[in-house]
Amino acid sequence: MAEKMRKTKILATIGPASINEKVLNKFKDYEVNCLRINTAHGNFEQYTKAINSARKIQEFCFLLDIKGPEVRIRTKYPIEVTAGQVVPIGFNKKEDAYFSYDFYNEVAEGDKVFFDNGQIEAKIMLKKDQKIHLKFVEDSVIRINKGVNIPNKELKIPSLSKKDKQAIKYAIDNDLDYIALSFVRNKKDVLQLKKILKNSDIGIISKIENWEGVKNIDEIIQESEGIMIARGDLGVEIPEEKIPIIQKQIIDKCNEKGKIAIVATQMLESMVTNKLPTRAEVSDVANAILDGTDCVMLSGETAAGKHPINAVRVMNKVAREVENNVEKNIDLDVHGNMSEELSKSAFLLLQKSTANKLVTITRSGYSASLISRFRIGKPIIAVTDNKKSVRKMALVWGVKPILLDKIPKSSMVTRVGLHLLKRGEVKKEDFVIFFAGVKTMQEHVSNLIEIHYIKDLVEWKKKVLNGELKKLP
Ligand code: PGA
Ligand code: MN
Repeated sequence: MAEKMRKTKILATIGPASINEKVLNKFKDYEVNCLRINTAHGNFEQYTKAINSARKIQEFCFLLDIKGPEVRIRTKYPIEVTAGQVVPIGFNKKEDAYFSYDFYNEVAEGDKVFFDNGQIEAKIMLKKDQKIHLKFVEDSVIRINKGVNIPNKELKIPSLSKKDKQAIKYAIDNDLDYIALSFVRNKKDVLQLKKILKNSDIGIISKIENWEGVKNIDEIIQESEGIMIARGDLGVEIPEEKIPIIQKQIIDKCNEKGKIAIVATQMLESMVTNKLPTRAEVSDVANAILDGTDCVMLSGETAAGKHPINAVRVMNKVAREVENNVEKNIDLDVHGNMSEELSKSAFLLLQKSTANKLVTITRSGYSASLISRFRIGKPIIAVTDNKKSVRKMALVWGVKPILLDKIPKSSMVTRVGLHLLKRGEVKKEDFVIFFAGVKTMQEHVSNLIEIHYIKDLVEWKKKVLNGELKKLP
């Protein structure tokens, strides 16, 4: 396909529409970077089948989306309601329709209940015998397993359900790369997941989908590797007209801290049924990228839509068209930790010197994110000896991850540079900034900047070979 790597990353949800060889091969062609499994649907057996089919095609990055404190309506079949009709729905699993969480004692008559990303509105007319009697505003069809929102209620749902805990174990056992936690309310929700993940290197993406999450965004960013702006639920829980600005604010905060930002939901919604997107959708994808998001996401479009291939084709071409116009003005005066400070120097060098590439040598990928956040546009190559980090960097804007069997301990920069030359990732005439962490006992710490002409590294090697130099500098 295209010779130049796309900088914006694409996360596509997989489901019945996409779990087959033909579609997954196209996902590879259009450079889908990461596949999302939504545990609201399907079971572990199906996930395993999907993962295996995808892994046969490419070593994709996988994100497992767990539902956290989310409410859904469980039904055996779609329920048709008419305007003004009052329908009693309870919480008993034995019934044909019930809510996944028992909020009977937490709601009052007069409260509003929404279904399916807010598309269906109902009002609680009566609470009786552990059932709420809902009056629907319009003729609607409540589809199976759709999300339920009760805005402005801080429900007491546990942060992780039994199925979530099974899913976390599943992610560890199957070497998945990210867990996205739904409805994150504060850092405690994130810390609880972290505690279960213990020393696994699975990254946590916190989904912001209600007011509490928006309010506590700083502490949530601090504890997470990335944030998903989950506009589907967010637009129900808070007024939808507030979302565009919240999106920009959250992306800015993520960029400032070198954390991954993902914009999600309804990006190309009409393509669930239509072959082509609307102009508004194309602009939405473009604007999210111009806001500075690392990654754009497809949900129903690729999981259950009619045109999954077209959807990724459109996203790919829109991203390629607009991404070179991203401008990010990170405030260099805001004091950060040592790595953040050093990354500013590397950025200034890259921006102001004739250096044309940056190579970061990283274990976790953190230093790659720190450079990526400036959205410079010059290629960023991230060399790591950790397979999972290679996959995880699939979500970081503008970063090309390269796996090395082993990061050399001595003459690290020179050897890595020569290795990249051999692999065609850098050229002899390149002038390259190296950014890395060396000789440090701390994790996630970058403390080195070197700048070299690749041709110099080649000269040194020659000198070592002919005995003029004892060892590589
Ligand atoms: P969901 O989350 O697709 O898991 O509901 C995304 C959103 O709410 O936007
Ligand atoms: Mn959601």
